[in-house]
Amino acid sequence: MIQSEIQTFLNKHEYDKIDLKTVLIDMDGVLYDSMKNHANAWYETISALGINSTPQEFYMYEGRTGASTINLLFQRAFNRPATEKEINEIYIQKTESFNRQPKAKAMPGAAEFLKKVKNAGLIPILVTGSGQASLLDKLDHEYPGIFTPETMVTAFDVKYGKPHPEPYLIGLQKAKAKPNQAIVIENAPLGVKAGVAAGIFTVGVNTGPLDDEVLLSAGANLLIPDMQILADRFEEIYTALIQ
Ligand code: MG
Repeated sequence: MIQSEIQTFLNKHEYDKIDLKTVLIDMDGVLYDSMKNHANAWYETISALGINSTPQEFYMYEGRTGASTINLLFQRAFNRPATEKEINEIYIQKTESFNRQPKAKAMPGAAEFLKKVKNAGLIPILVTGSGQASLLDKLDHEYPGIFTPETMVTAFDVKYGKPHPEPYLIGLQKAKAKPNQAIVIENAPLGVKAGVAAGIFTVGVNTGPLDDEVLLSAGANLLIPDMQILADRFEEIYTALIQ
């Protein structure tokens, strides 16, 4: 089953094979069960501005920079982009609301998955659009010895953010790898699009409320229901990838 998905991917990109060296891993909704907090924080902040939205729609925007999400909502509500001052103020309010939410827990299965990645001799690289210090700072506590500043791409490194391939292209640079030497682990449709646009085999892990179809139509090469199942199936997927 996985073999046919890999073959379709290789044919599309005209790669001979996947020479796996690195695993590029998103953070929110993959390493932390944090998306509900983000969606609630956005909804609360945006509602306070008198702009109509739903908590659910913020799952669709996941991976965008904060500025891009704010501009999208301003265009819809006011037919204009937000000013830089508005963006800064709103993003501060969103961060404050995020920090008031219950603490986001490590995603079940993620630690086991990362351990297996390391043990297979692969380089784990974090690729997130997030700049939330509350999560970035505790990565080493939840996942000791996995990431270093040299193996992390965050909001502070990127200009465009997902769905632009830029964050994943920077991730490849950090691992000194080519697109066919990596896989991407993503939960968000725009994140999947970014991985696909970077020419990388992209595993969609559907940890949120969106339909599988949303991730598949974003281009996910393989769809897995959650991180525990990804950890459980690591050996099977790894073996298929390196054949
Ligand atoms: Mg995510």
